[in-house]
Amino acid sequence: MRLVWFRNDLRCHGHRPLTQALAGNEPVSALYMLCPQQWDHHDVAPVRRAYVLNSLLELGESLQRLGVDLHVINAGDFQRSVDQLAGFVDEHGVTEVFCNRDYPLNELNRDRAVAERLQARGVPVHGFDDQMLVPPRALNTGKGTPYTVFTAFKKRWDAWMDDADPQPVPAPRKRPGAARFVGRGVVERALNELSVDERLVALWPAGEKDAAKQLQRFVEQDLADYRRRRDFPDQPGTSGLSVALSAGTLAPLDAYRAARLAMADAGARDGAACWIGELAWRDFYRQILHRFPRLAKGAPFRPETGLLRWSDNEEHFAAWCQGRTGYPLVDAAMRQLVQTGWMHNRLRMLSAMFLSKHLFIDWRRGERFFMRHLVDGDFAANNGGWQWSASTGTDAAPYFRVFSPMRQSQRFDAEGRFIARYVPELAELDNKTIHEPWKQPLMSHGYPPPIVAHQGVKQQVESAFRQARDAWQQQQGSNQ
Ligand SMILES: Cc1cc2nc3c(=O)[nH]c(=O)nc-3n(C[C@H](O)[C@H](O)[C@H](O)COP(=O)(O)OP(=O)(O)OC[C@H]3O[C@@H](n4cnc5c(N)ncnc54)[C@H](O)[C@@H]3O)c2cc1C
Repeated sequence: MRLVWFRNDLRCHGHRPLTQALAGNEPVSALYMLCPQQWDHHDVAPVRRAYVLNSLLELGESLQRLGVDLHVINAGDFQRSVDQLAGFVDEHGVTEVFCNRDYPLNELNRDRAVAERLQARGVPVHGFDDQMLVPPRALNTGKGTPYTVFTAFKKRWDAWMDDADPQPVPAPRKRPGAARFVGRGVVERALNELSVDERLVALWPAGEKDAAKQLQRFVEQDLADYRRRRDFPDQPGTSGLSVALSAGTLAPLDAYRAARLAMADAGARDGAACWIGELAWRDFYRQILHRFPRLAKGAPFRPETGLLRWSDNEEHFAAWCQGRTGYPLVDAAMRQLVQTGWMHNRLRMLSAMFLSKHLFIDWRRGERFFMRHLVDGDFAANNGGWQWSASTGTDAAPYFRVFSPMRQSQRFDAEGRFIARYVPELAELDNKTIHEPWKQPLMSHGYPPPIVAHQGVKQQVESAFRQARDAWQQQQGSNQ
């Protein structure tokens, strides 16, 4: 029997392992292993767990329609999942395993252990790269090293995509006969055990059908204007597909091809090209994580920044988490995250930079807080985004670049509509004062004054980075 092992790819459409497994005549089954302890260890947000579990319910039904049994096992964590998989293979007489590769370190270690165990049984594991557009080791600089600068990476990435011109994955062949969903109860129990507000879950309809509809709606209505509108959090200018791409209810190739097709219309060309650039960023951070595994252990990409002395001001951290820093757009962003499980990209940059520069709190604390709330929490993109904002990463914002929360607010939420939605205490302020409410303290009842001054932050950050760099150089010198 052939086994399709589903992980972060909860769909039937655009799924090479499933299509390939079904191409032969051998019987085919599918498996998903729940690892709630691994979710705890990786700080996976309850709303994301709900999205994954609900998507699994849909996947089970879709597989049944294809004549494929889906087995769901509660394995606990990755370590036990290796034993569980080996046990499943023995029990069901599995002869081959098909799956999409995962790239973060713990997942790689799990997959290596699985491959070893199954090799001893003479069962091959066929890995595919549907989770990325360009596989993580495909592109190298002239020196054979990984790309660490996005612009150079993107140039090669575009050329690779043009040459390869990847075609859609053929639809999986249907098998005759009835199929079972073994372990539906395991999924339903896990859903019942989740402590998460139903209204939050309802904001993120799960499964591949919804993801496909959302992609179509975005391409038809918003893609053409993407470049113009994507930076304004009050507008529906971006796709909202990050959860689908990160849980694999949408194949990146389907997203890419939809945008490429849309480029045939001259009016949509610029927006589509810009959006494809974001899909390239997604690949960029995945290949960085894969090729620099130390990042998965919490290391900064730039080693000298490991010597920065972060602040341990707990009151500041709590104010940031609660959206009570006194900077309206930062606070609106943090409240959007907690209330909806998602945050607009510009605001992710702003709030991450605010934590790591204005408050000078270790970016890893913010990274973890985001993971605990994001429905699209994805280690590679989150780590990449945080290290970009904190200037500790590859191709990051230079350390002397510090967003002004007021300026960002005036530029990207000029009317203050986004702020008014999430910080209702300020809703009555006019569109000048709403960006700097401390100028009218009597008008902004219940809203705190700024917890730190913006003035002087740039100089403090520059000095801290210089000190870290000097200490690093000294350390390197004494190690020689
Ligand atoms: C501090 C910080 C943390 C982030 N954490 C995550 C995360 O956990 N998960 C996540 O998917 N994205 C993360 N991002 C990237 C980005 O903010 C989100 O992908 C985007 O806001 C999702 O909205 P969208 O689907 O409407 O994006 P769109 O603008 O429609 O973009 C399309 C897709 O491209 C990808 N993408 C867009 N921007 C980026 C980027 N900068 N890096 C990598 N991929 C990108 C996403 O898959 C996204 O769905 C983070 C960015 C920052 C600055």
